[in-house]
Amino acid sequence: MSTLRTPAELEEAGLIASGEVPGIARVAERYAIAISPAMADLIDKADPDDPIARQFVPDAAELATTPEEREDPIGDLAHSPVEGIVHRYPDRVLLKAVHICPVYCRFCFRREMVGPQGLGTLAPEALDRAFAYIAGHPEVWEVILTGGDPMVLSARRLSALMQRLSAIGHVKIVRLHTRVPVVEPERIDEALIAALKTSGKTVYVAVHANHPRELTPAARAACGRLVDAGIVMLSQSVLLKGVNDDPDTLAALMRAFVETRIKPYYLHHPDLAPGTAHFRLSLDEGRALVAGLRGRISGLCQPTYVLDIPGGYGKAAIAPDTVGEEDGSQTIADFRGRRHLYPPAES
Ligand SMILES: *Cc1c(COP(=O)(O)O)cnc(C)c1O
Ligand code: SF4
Repeated sequence: MSTLRTPAELEEAGLIASGEVPGIARVAERYAIAISPAMADLIDKADPDDPIARQFVPDAAELATTPEEREDPIGDLAHSPVEGIVHRYPDRVLLKAVHICPVYCRFCFRREMVGPQGLGTLAPEALDRAFAYIAGHPEVWEVILTGGDPMVLSARRLSALMQRLSAIGHVKIVRLHTRVPVVEPERIDEALIAALKTSGKTVYVAVHANHPRELTPAARAACGRLVDAGIVMLSQSVLLKGVNDDPDTLAALMRAFVETRIKPYYLHHPDLAPGTAHFRLSLDEGRALVAGLRGRISGLCQPTYVLDIPGGYGKAAIAPDTVGEEDGSQTIADFRGRRHLYPPAES
């Protein structure tokens, strides 16, 4: 079985009905499609609301855009000093060497940039300019490889990138944002792990998964190989309507990460990417869900709920409202929602 990429292949795999093919073909003209074998296997075709299918199988609803949606929802372009680099915060840069992914998520915040018709792979000269930029900015403490998905690169090319980073003394941390350990776990082999370690820097891998079923035994084993090799793993998930917007699913997802030795890092509020309104919930709905996690699951399992402010202003933590006021004194809400004076009244 190989990655499904066309409406005809989706139909043949039983993931869409023949009547849907024309509508999906129109989606395919605009946005890339890919479903890896591991994810296609995971889809329950008998369930019309399957949360895995919802993330990867295209939907004609993607053709509808709303006025608030934008092609560059988090303002990458406004902060790109040279091709392939996004420098929004002083101490860290994104290095986007590829714009290809092993799967294409229907809610992707960079959907206008990724895929075969996207921004492509950095040409050697552009890569030279990107590395020159990093080398010329001593305040850059961390380089975040993203894209696209940097783990689609061969071990040889990844190792070459890592070697170039190892030559830049002020870069201490290399972080990769990827879906590969979950959607193509077989790629995490010795050669790839050796490539990640070439830089000699501290390496973090932030793995993207949104539903507990994605943490299959094969995915857990792949993450285990990375962690055993001394790589620190973090999670990132997107809060998505119809995928994980209920307390049981979110709790199970965060626990699955922690069981896999992955520390939950970010839970992203969905970005205003074109054609993704059917995935979005309100900030208030998100806050209520996240507030409910505190009493329900271990502190180890708590992600930070963040919103990337449209326009390129960076991420903001959307903390649950625990601090309040009552009769001129401060109150703090506990995990059951009960309010307590702080400092407490004298007893
Ligand atoms: C999200 C992002 C980062 C990483 O932010 P952290 O809070 O450090 O995870 C860095 N640079 C850009 C441009 C980003 O969008
Ligand atoms: S893996 Fe990331 S960059 Fe690629 S389609 Fe999914 S969300 Fe977008």
